[in-house]
Formats: sequence, C-alpha cells, structure tokens
Amino acid sequence: MMAQFIEIKMANPDSLLFYRMGDFYELFFEDAEVASRALGITLTKRGKHQGDDIPMCGVPVHAADDYLQKLIALGHRVAVCEQMEDPAEAKKRGAKSVVKRDVIRLVTPGTITEEKLLDPSEANYLMALGRVKGGDADSMALAWIDISTGAFRVAATRPDRLLADILRIDPRELIVPDPAYYDPELKPVFDVVGRTASPQPGNLFDSASAEMRLTRFYGVATLEGFGRFSRAELSAISGAVAYVEKTQKAERPPLGRPERDEEEAALFIDPATRANLELARTLSGNRDGSLLKAIDRTVTGAGSRLLAERLMSPLTDPEAIGARLDAVSFFLGEPSLRDMARGLLKGVPDIARALSRLALNRGGPRDLGALAAGFEAAHGVAEILHGKPVPAEIAAALSGIAALPMEFAAHLDRALAEELPLLKRDGGFIRAGYNEELDEMRALRDQSRRVIAEMERALAEETGIRSLKIRHNNVLGYYIEVTANNAEVMTGSDEAKARFIHRQTMANAMRFTTTELAGLETKIANAADRALQIELGVFDVLLDEAVRAANAIRAASDALAVLDVSAALAQIAEAENYCRPHVDGSLDFHIEGGRHPVVEQALRRQVAEPFVANDCDLSPVEGEKHGAIWLLTGPNMGGKSTFLRQNALIAVMAQMGSFVPAALARIGVVDRLFSRVGASDDLARGRSTFMVEMVETAAILNQAGERALVILDEIGRGTATFDGLSIAWAAVEYLHEQNRCRALFATHFHEMTALSEKLPRLSNVTMRVKEFEGDVVFLHEVGRGAADRSYGVQVARLAGLPHAVVERAREVLHQLEEGETSGKASKLIDDLPLFSVAMKKEAEAPKTPDRLGAELSAINPDDLTPREALEALYRLKQLA
Ligand code: ADP
Repeated sequence: MMAQFIEIKMANPDSLLFYRMGDFYELFFEDAEVASRALGITLTKRGKHQGDDIPMCGVPVHAADDYLQKLIALGHRVAVCEQMEDPAEAKKRGAKSVVKRDVIRLVTPGTITEEKLLDPSEANYLMALGRVKGGDADSMALAWIDISTGAFRVAATRPDRLLADILRIDPRELIVPDPAYYDPELKPVFDVVGRTASPQPGNLFDSASAEMRLTRFYGVATLEGFGRFSRAELSAISGAVAYVEKTQKAERPPLGRPERDEEEAALFIDPATRANLELARTLSGNRDGSLLKAIDRTVTGAGSRLLAERLMSPLTDPEAIGARLDAVSFFLGEPSLRDMARGLLKGVPDIARALSRLALNRGGPRDLGALAAGFEAAHGVAEILHGKPVPAEIAAALSGIAALPMEFAAHLDRALAEELPLLKRDGGFIRAGYNEELDEMRALRDQSRRVIAEMERALAEETGIRSLKIRHNNVLGYYIEVTANNAEVMTGSDEAKARFIHRQTMANAMRFTTTELAGLETKIANAADRALQIELGVFDVLLDEAVRAANAIRAASDALAVLDVSAALAQIAEAENYCRPHVDGSLDFHIEGGRHPVVEQALRRQVAEPFVANDCDLSPVEGEKHGAIWLLTGPNMGGKSTFLRQNALIAVMAQMGSFVPAALARIGVVDRLFSRVGASDDLARGRSTFMVEMVETAAILNQAGERALVILDEIGRGTATFDGLSIAWAAVEYLHEQNRCRALFATHFHEMTALSEKLPRLSNVTMRVKEFEGDVVFLHEVGRGAADRSYGVQVARLAGLPHAVVERAREVLHQLEEGETSGKASKLIDDLPLFSVAMKKEAEAPKTPDRLGAELSAINPDDLTPREALEALYRLKQLA
C-alpha cells in the first residue's frame, strides 16, 4: 500500500494527498505533519518506511468538506484519492493485493464548487495568464473562469497594468506559465499577489494547441463561433481550460464560451487607488466599512456577486451607464413592484452554482430542487413585471428568464418530492406517482414492513411470548428475538426447532429466523434496492437535461442577478436619498450636496450626527477646454480626506450605474481614476511612507490624461517641510500644465494657495472652521478661499496632548509667526526661554489648572444670582 501511496504522491507533489482508506482520508509523511498542524488534529504513526516511523493523520470522509475548507482557506491544494473498486474485488485477486486507487480531483482555491467552501456573495475566479513573447512582440492576456457558475472571460493586458487588472478581478487563484512566473520584470506583481499565484508547466498555455484543446472541451468542430482571439488571449484561455481539466479529471464543468472584456470599456483604477478608496475591502482587509458593504442591498448571492463586479469595474460608456441607471430608475418609480420582486428574489436559490455542482457530479437532489425552485421564482418575478413599460436592461433580463426550458422545469416539478435528502444515495427524492415501477417497489417494501408487524403479532400469540419482537440490524437483517427465559418455547420440541432457525445467543436473549421471515426480508431488500436504482436512474436523466440546458440556466441566473442589483440599487437610492447622476461625454464634474456614502452611514449609526453635504465643481470654466483643479486647505480633522474620497466614490458609483449620494451630479465620463490618500507604510517591502507616496504620485503624473480624475491628499507630508512644499508645488503645476485633468489636491502647505494667481484652472477652497473660546470647531463645510491658519495646536489640544506641551507650542508658534524669518532655529533659541524652564514654571503652577479653568470658563457672571455666585466661589476654591 505504501508503494501505491508513494507513487500517487509523486505524481501530485504540490498537493496534500487525501488517501482514502475505508471511512477516512489518511495523510502520510510531511503531508500529515502539515495537515495536523493546520487542522489541529492528532498526528500518529503507522508502520515504518526505511526504518523510520511514518507520521500519519486522518479525517473522516463525512466531515471532509470542513477540513478541506480550512486547508483551502490557508492556501493549500488537496489531491483527493479515492478507492476505485470494492475492497472485495481486490481480495479476489489475492490476499496481498491492494485496492485500486486514483486521484479523482485536485481541490484548489480557484476550482471549488461546494456550497460549504464558497462564499455566496463572492465570485470564485481561477485566473490564467497568457503571454506570447518572441522577437519584439510581448503581448499578454488574462482569462478567468468561475467554475462554480460557468462564467468565462478574457482580456488583453500589459506589464504596466497587469497588477491593476488582476486586482480588479480579484481571483482566488492565478496560474502563470513557468517562464513568466520567474521573469524578473513581472516578479513585483507576483510578490503582491502572493500565494494566490502559482507557476504551472508552460505547455498548458500553448497557444498553438489551444484550438484543439478548446474544440475538444466544448465538443465543437471549430472555434469559429467563438469570435477572434489574439495569441496571448488564446494562451490564457487554453491555460485556464487545461487547468480545469487537470484538477477536475474526468468531470466537466459547464463553462460558458470565453467572452472578451474590452480594455477601454472599464474605468481604470490603479491598485493603490483601489485599496485607498476601500471599494470592496478596507485597508485593513475587512468587508465591513467598504463601499460595497455600505451599498449592498441585494437579496441573492448572484446579485451580490454582480454588484461587486460592477463596483470593481465601472463603465466608461455613457450609454451603457445610462441603460443601467434606467433600470434603477424604473424600480425607484415602482416601489410596490420592487418590494414584490425583492420578496420573490429572496427565495431564489443559487441556480448557477447548483448547476455546476450537478455537472461536476458533485450535486445531489437538493441541487435539482434548487433549479426547480429557482425556475419557479424566476417566472414569478417575470410575471409581476409582465406588461409593464420596462427599460431595455430589464426587458433583456425578462427575455433571459423567458428562455428557460419550460419542459425541463415541468419535468422537475413532476419528478421531485417535497422533501429532498442531501445525498442521492439516501433515496426518497422522487415524487410518488412519477414512476410506476418505483411506486410498486416502494409499496412492496412498505407492505412487507406491514406484513412483518403482522407476523410479529401472530408469533407472539402462537408462542404465548408477549415480549417477542421482530427486529432488524445490519448484520443479521430481520430476526425474531425472545428473552433467554422464554427460549425454551422455541427450542423445546423438534417441531419448534425446525420452525425457528437459531441465529444468535446473547447474554439474556436468543435470536431466530423463519423461512417466511427470511423470504420477506429478501423481498424488502430487493424492493428497496430496485427502488433506489430507479431513483438514481431518474436523477441521471434530470441531470442530463440540466446540463443540456446549461446555457439557458446560466443566462436566467444572470438575468435574475440583474433584476436583483437594479432593485437593490433603487432600494438604497430611496433609503439614503441618492440622486440619479447624469453621465456624458463632457469633461464636467459638477456635484451639488455631495456626501460620503460610508461616513454618512457611520455617523448616523455612531453619533446620530448629520453629514455635512458639500459641492464640488471641477467642470471646465468659461473659455477653458480642460477641467479644473481644486486646491483644498484646512486643518487636520477638518474633513479634507473625506471630501476628496467622497468625490472619487461618487464618480465610481455613477459609472457603475448606481445613483449617488448627492443632490445633483453631472459627470463627464472618467476613464482613469487615481488617488494618493493617507499614508500607508509598505515596510514589508522596505519602502518608507515617503517612498510609497512618491511612487504612487509618479504613477499618477505619468499616466493621467485629460479624462482622468485625480485625488491627491497631502503630498509631501513625509519629508522635510521645504522639500515637501516644493514637490507638492511642482506636482500641482504639472497636473495643471501637462495632465490637464480634473483634480482635487488637499494640502497643509498654505503657501501653495498663491499658485491660483498663476494657474487659471486652479481654485482655492478650504474646510471652514470656527474658533470658539480658543478651540476650533470643525464645520466640515467646503468654501471658496484659503484657510487663514492651520489650527494644528488647537487640534493637538483636542487630542489630549499635555497642557504644558500645548501652551509651549502656542508660544513657539507665536514667535515663529512674529519673526518673518520663520524656521530659523537659532533665532528661536535666542528669543524663547528653554522648554525646561517653561516646564518648570508649569510644574509650580497649581496641579489642576484644567478643571479649574474649565469651571471658570463655564461661568458667566452676568447670568448668576448673588447666591449662585457665592456657591461657585466655594466650588472653585475646592478645586484649587
Ligand atoms: P482631514 O483629512 O482634514 O484630517 P478627515 O476627512 O479625516 O479630516 O475628517 C475627520 C473627521 O471629521 C471624520 O472622521 C468624520 O467623522 C468627520 N467629517 C469629515 N467630513 C465630514 C462632513 N462633511 N460632515 C460631518 N462630519 C465629517
């Protein structure tokens, strides 16, 4: 057996091998050590190999999914090796011969289909990189498949946008041909992607044999009907399909044909921007707090996946965006239809995933049930929308639903029982009245059971043993059981002995059978067996019909997702008071009363404070061809980052086809969105905050064109003041003169506001604050003009910096502002007593100046009665 194990393991070196032995999957050697650590299960030993103990651990087959889930989540791959014959067969060949085993499936993060292993609201993409290099040609493409739904897409890419494209799709697994994986030029990309990426033999990606592979996989004679693909695209497609074949062995998922994503069709969002804007995940990797989580009101898994996809790849074609918005508008205008549709959609199972499981032979009766329920709900939804003047997007969805194979749906309804078991081998999932022979067999089985009950009664009467029972177990089958003290009746006479055949003697009972009982038993067993055979036969017929209808089912699933997303976006638009954006081919960016969709909800939840809405207008001004730049100043905590991000998010939402958190929004389509916000250290890669900032800024200045929208927050913060100011200054000039794009630029360098005199498309705006008794109050309002000062010291005070430090900072600031030679430390030292001296003075001061001060400032002498004044005096004296 070990020899067999080792042979199979050698063929699957990069997977943990689950080796089937009876009711367990066993793991050996290093696999056992890895798995026991990862799963927290006991490591034991079994036999010896070359003199050493063999480490072993095992998981029960019935619980294997849970363990698989853990291992996959940790990034492992698992090869599932099954017994390919009944152990009895092996024995027949000789006492020593080993049961035939084979790997029937490789379980990898990108190729799972089990409900338990999948997140219903996330796509599960396997992605393949194709690359054709030779001469001066170097072209690349990505193909991605969700085998749990059959979706299959392909797009061209380039080294400089490879990472952005990968992150847009966010695959669970990325396979890369060996030579590309080890290419130093691409290494930084795979470093970021980490364990998700793995090298695979180059021959999987061979574009020359791709055609043969694909025609074989799809069972077609030529690829003519597939559209034209470049060699790099064919290579990626071939790699993806080859990997599916490699991991799924004999089974074939019902993949749709590869569809191309055109590069210009999607708003390009570079990796840093995607992370910074926290579209689908926050910077710390959580889904809570992301834009997606804040706006997701879908009620189905497929809907939730489609919403995520739209958010990750907003469109750039105003017409296509308008079509999506029409669908949202429709549901917004029909609240009761919307409620009804959402009510029905809620009950729709994930039919695309059920279909994939069935096609891969991993499905059960409940997956057939899911299809039936899904079809019914789909028709229900279509019915409520029937005859309504629906926009094109919804009309298309409705025709998708109408194309569902009615006959198959009716067949499912006729065939399936009300209650369905998880596993087909449990039987009982075919409805009574569907198959005559099945009904007969079931009747025979049930009738025989009744006959046995009758027999038990008769025997008890005949023998006079009231406690006589007919029981059943797996070893003996049916038997008659009497207690030991009654056994005499069954064994006392020859006649009785002939009638009651002894089977087993227990401590206080004896077991017998009779020829009639044995006969009945065979009948029951045969009937049950035959019934199950019939049911399995029907299952196969239904499965076959499902696979034949795969394209229609997938299309209906997509259609339902479109309805779900449109209704959900209408729902949130109504609940959160969003407006329909107007997206066109201009270079406008005009937002009135814009809000941050995530912060707004958070504020309401946490502090019940309203979010202050703000306008933003970057549209070209009179006589200008290009969009404007707003230079935003204001104190820390004033709301600058929030304002910057909210405008980027509004652009993303508008172009994904959603209503937006604003009173009015007119947006000339954005083709590339860039942001440089917040300071994130990338210490793991040995880059300081400043370096990260500069790399990201460089990417923006090098790539942004006139249709881009750029959000820059506090450029130059991470270095010495004059360096920082100079860099920020030059960056704004470059944006204005070279990139000529719409941009929001937040800075704490007030000196920069002077730029507006020189740059015609640059305007100064500031976050308004009020000063109240020495404190700052943030109004969170964006107004024209520049901040007069930065209020840093006041903000520091709010943050709880020690009183002495705050006071000292005020003094230093005062001196700096007085002497125009600001920054000259020597002058400061001359003019100001040393910090320690100030500290000393502070130390001599009363210990509780803060509370005393607070009390004092709370008192308004004019409002006090003489008596209150006296009381206040006593209170103050106590504090001193
Ligand atoms: P800055 O970037 O200027 O330091 P932030 O954008 O981080 O400031 O905002 C600081 C805090 O102020 C946020 O956490 C948020 O709670 C609050 N805030 C920002 N903008 C608004 C607004 N428009 N309305 C209400 N509260 C806001």
